Order: sequence, then structure tokens, then C-alpha cells
Amino acid sequence: MSYATPVRDMQFALRQMAGYGALEGGAYPELTGDLTSAILEEMAKYCDNVVAPLNGESDANGARLENGVVRTSPGFADAYRQYVEGGWGSLAFPETAGGQGLPGTLAVALVDALNGACMSFAIGTTLTTGAVKAIEAVGTEEQKRLFLPKLVSGEWTGTMNLTEPQAGSDLSGVRTKAEPVGDGTYRISGQKIYITYGEHDMADNIVHLVLARLPDAPEGTGGISMFLVPKVHVDADGGLGARNDVACVGLEEKMGLHGSPTCVMAFGEQGECVGTLLGEENKGLRNMFVMMNSARLDVGVQGVGVAERAFQRALAYALDRTQGREPGVKSGPQVAIYKHPDVRRMLYSMKSMVEASRAICYANAVAYDLARHGESEDVRKRNKAVEELLTPISKAWSTDRANDVTSLGVQIHGGMGYIEETGAAQHMRDARIAAIYEGTNGIQAMDLVGRKLQGDGGAAAKAFIAEARSEAAAAKDAGTDDLARMATRLAKAADALEASTDWLLSAAKRDQVDVLAGATPYLRQFGSVAGGMYLARGARAATAAMGEAGADKAYLSGRVAVARFYADNTLSEASGLTEAVTAGADALTELDPAVLTG
Ligand SMILES: Cc1cc2nc3c(=O)[nH]c(=O)nc-3n(C[C@H](O)[C@H](O)[C@H](O)COP(=O)(O)OP(=O)(O)OC[C@H]3O[C@@H](n4cnc5c(N)ncnc54)[C@H](O)[C@@H]3O)c2cc1C
Repeated sequence: MSYATPVRDMQFALRQMAGYGALEGGAYPELTGDLTSAILEEMAKYCDNVVAPLNGESDANGARLENGVVRTSPGFADAYRQYVEGGWGSLAFPETAGGQGLPGTLAVALVDALNGACMSFAIGTTLTTGAVKAIEAVGTEEQKRLFLPKLVSGEWTGTMNLTEPQAGSDLSGVRTKAEPVGDGTYRISGQKIYITYGEHDMADNIVHLVLARLPDAPEGTGGISMFLVPKVHVDADGGLGARNDVACVGLEEKMGLHGSPTCVMAFGEQGECVGTLLGEENKGLRNMFVMMNSARLDVGVQGVGVAERAFQRALAYALDRTQGREPGVKSGPQVAIYKHPDVRRMLYSMKSMVEASRAICYANAVAYDLARHGESEDVRKRNKAVEELLTPISKAWSTDRANDVTSLGVQIHGGMGYIEETGAAQHMRDARIAAIYEGTNGIQAMDLVGRKLQGDGGAAAKAFIAEARSEAAAAKDAGTDDLARMATRLAKAADALEASTDWLLSAAKRDQVDVLAGATPYLRQFGSVAGGMYLARGARAATAAMGEAGADKAYLSGRVAVARFYADNTLSEASGLTEAVTAGADALTELDPAVLTG
């Protein structure tokens, strides 16, 4: 089944839910509606025609390691060449760095479309984006001169080398070493595991950003530095020299994402791996966060993309597969399973979760852009707070929903969903990793209740809740039954979220263990309210537009129906989550191994 980038839904999410209009003319003076539309249309052509056809084949015929060389899935290298030629990688980088100076939000829309087309192809491109951002932020002039142009164009790709067998969520255990040579360079030695696109055949060079320890570094995360380690040395003129002593020594066999090479990387097996310090000594983890924050939003958007594709596939199947009679009728011909309320319920669940997570991620991206390009200090500051707050929610809520959506996609296919032939199972297997890498969703929830909530005494969270309440008031005033119903559910869920927030802020003064115990249900509740707020805003805009000449009423009423379904289901459920958030750790402490094993 083919994939079609949902350009119309993306436009709707950008404009009617995520506040993209604030970027046009203001923060980005050259940006116009026509330009945005043209880019989205071209993006769709590339993703639908070039990348999407590779998806199934890359699952069956994943990356292979042959004599130290990683061969990517059939068609990947050619699709990547077209990605570079089309300038897709440089969309949102500043013109001064060779980019096109467009909003990061458009790059996020590209991540959405690319992941819908083929998640294992898309993931390679987003790591390069993160590497560019890190070098731009903390690189020396020389590092920027030598590495940025080729990374921005996509001719070279980037990686993120954090994980080691004993250092996963807790990077304080990183053991990879960096010894100063005396000429400003460092000899790197150690092994990294699970490195995405650590080696491949799609680009002439790979720029590894590696976390390692200097000889006299303090213990813990405060003793980690970041190094730039090219696969192939680069001379002073930017030309390629000899191979560096860095090699892929193994590829992981995975549950999904087969087209993405997940590499075991050996640095300095011959004692000849040379890198340069990127940023200050011992500030590596902090600086790596520049890359990780961008990657976290991108992983959230991966969830949106793969969920979109699972939805499209499930809808096509539900319209085609016939079973049972017309609901409520005992005889007559078999009907498409789409007719059955329970199947529709699943389809609406899928669609509403896709739309809600897309809106959250796009709003996060708009906040990212306004935090850097907003017209005043006040606008930049306010949006920075929204960006920080939404990043763990975008990552974890969207990828948790992607797991729900892709699982429902299998369910809609019945037995055929469990058979690989339909492709529904691939989406479920691929989506699973998004809740794990880039900081597990449990770690995202801890970030939300820790740094994000307690860091400003709850100010950003409270401002968000106030925004949800005012959206509920506006929906109530809009004067339709559907919007009034959404308004009631949204206001109730916002009250519940506020109760959870207040409880967590007060518990934080007594016992962080109670706070941590409620972290995951809190993130779920927060994401559900945020999604409900954006969908209600979209439904309000759709309702208003229905009266306009030439309006596509079917499409607009679809947005209202999806938002209403979400309000009745997800928002109602969200209101009940306060009990889980505020239960504290008492029940959990009883779950000691003796209890679990009987
Ligand atoms: C396909 C794939 C691609 C990857 N790509 C990269 C890459 O490109 N670069 C890279 O550096 N890494 C990469 N990773 C590694 C990935 O980021 C880690 O797997 C992830 O961060 C989790 O670390 P871990 O596997 O060691 O799990 P652990 O840290 O052992 O976690 C196990 C469980 O314990 C929980 N847990 C751990 N600590 C805490 C805590 N303090 N509080 C509450 N719960 C906790 C976790 O949430 C999780 O549920 C990749 C992994 C995979 C599988």
C-alpha cells in the first residue's frame, strides 16, 4: 500500500493549531504562505515517490555488515543522493552556514513526512541535523569552517555516540577515553554501542560526536567531554585525507527499524583514533543536550510519521475488507469492516492521536523558532519556556501514542495484521524503539516533573493550563453543540491537570520519590490536555471556516468530528489520571522482588 504525505493535515496543524502564522512575515520576513505550500508539496513528491517505496523492502532486507563496510538497504543510497541534491537537509539552517534560512518548523514537517515514508531511512537524516546544531553552538571557528558546510548540505552525515554497555540512561558511567596529544588533538579509545548510522555507504564522510573522559576528569557526568571524530580525516582545505581509526565492528539484530544500521563502534583499536574537543572540557553532556533536545523533538515527530502511515494502511484495509452485516441489520450482504462502530472507534482513536501528537510537535517547533527569532525579548522568553516544557511531552507522549496507534493498526487488520505480508506489523515493530531511545519515555517524564516543572516553580505549566482554559472558554462561546461538549471536557481535564500540578509542586517539598512515582501518568495527562487544546482550537477554526465561500465542508467537519471523539475519549480519560499522579510511591514500595516472585 502506498503512502501519501498528508499535506493538507500538515497545513491545517501548522496554521490552525500550532500558530505557524506567527513565523510568516514577522520572525521570518521572507516566509510566505505560498512558499510554505510549495515546499510542502515538493516534500510530499520526494517522500511519496522516492522514499516511501523503500519501506517494506528495507524491513525485509536491512543493513548488512560486510568486511567492515555497512551496506544499507536497496535504494537508500540513491534516495539519500536525491535528498542532498534536493537541498532537504539544509532547509532550516542559517544562510550563513550554507542553509536556506527557513523555520525549523518546516524541517520538523519534513521529519514527519520522511518518517511516514520510511522511518529507518529518516532517522539517519535527523542525526545530522543534531550534529550541525551542536557544532554551530559550541564548535571552534575551525571546526565550523571544516565540517559545517558538508554537514549542512548533507554530503556528510553526523552521529551521536553516547551509549556504552554500562552507560545508558545514566551516562555518568561513560568510560571512553580521550588523551591529549599535545598538538590540540586527542587520541580517543573505547567502544560505543547502538550507534545509529555509525557506518554506512550513503556519504563520503561521517562526523561522530563522541562523549569521552579526559585523563584527569572528575567522576560522574561533570567529567564528560564531547569530541568531534571524523571517519575520514579532513585537511586544512576541507579535503578528505586518510581513514581515521574508527570502525563499525558489529551490527545489532533488532525487533524493527531494520533499514537503520545500529552499530557497535570501536574507537582507537589501533591507537590511532584522533579527534578534537568540541566545546569546553567536562561540559560535554551539557553541550550534547543541544543535540539531544533537537533529537528529542525529532523522535516525537517520528512517532507522528509512523503512526500516520499505520493509520493510512488501516483505513485502506477497513474500507476493503468485508465481514459481517450492516450494524443493526440481521441479513444482507457483507459490508466493509469500516461500517462497524468498533472498527470506526479504532480508526478515530488512531486519527485523533495522530492529529493531536502532530499538533503538539508542531507547536513545540513553532515555540523553538520563536524562542530564537521572535521579535522581542518577551516573545523569545515566553516561547523558550513553552519549548522547554513541550520537548519531553512531544517526545514521550507522541511516541507512546505511536505505539498505541500502530498496535490498533494491527488490530484493525485482524489476523492479517499479525502476518508480515500486510506491512501493519512493521509499523508496530518500528515504532517500538521511539519510546526507548533518545532518553526513554520514563526519563522524559522525570525531566518533566523535575527540571521543567520544579525549575520555574510551575510557572510554565500553569501558563499552559491557563491557555487550555481560555481555549475551552473560546470553544464554549463558539456556539455549537460539538464545541460546547469539547469545551466542557477540556475545562475539566485542565482542572485535573492543575490539581496534579499543585500536588506535585507541594510533594516536591516533602519527598522527590513521590514526585517520581507520579511522573509518567503526569506526562500522559499533560500531553492529553495539550492535544485536546490544540484539537479544540482546530475544531473552532474549522467551524468558523465552514461558512466561507468555497469551503470544503467535508474536510472541515472531519476536523470537528476527530476533535470531538478525542474530547469524549482521551480527554475524559485524562481527567481521571490525577488519582494516579497523586497516589505517591506507597503502592510502589510494596513491589519489592519478594512480592513479585511470590
Ligand atoms: C535501535 C537503537 C538505536 C540507538 N541509537 C543510539 C545512538 O545513535 N546513539 C547513542 O548514543 N545511543 C543510541 N541508542 C541507545 C539508547 O539511547 C539507549 O538504549 C536508551 O537511552 C536507554 O538506555 P539503556 O538501553 O541502557 O537502558 P537502561 O538505562 O538500562 O534502562 C532500562 C529501563 O530502566 C529505566 N531507568 C533507567 N534509569 C532510570 C532512572 N534513573 N529512573 C527511572 N527509570 C530508569 C529506563 O526508563 C528503562 O525502562 C540506541 C538504541 C537502540 C536500541
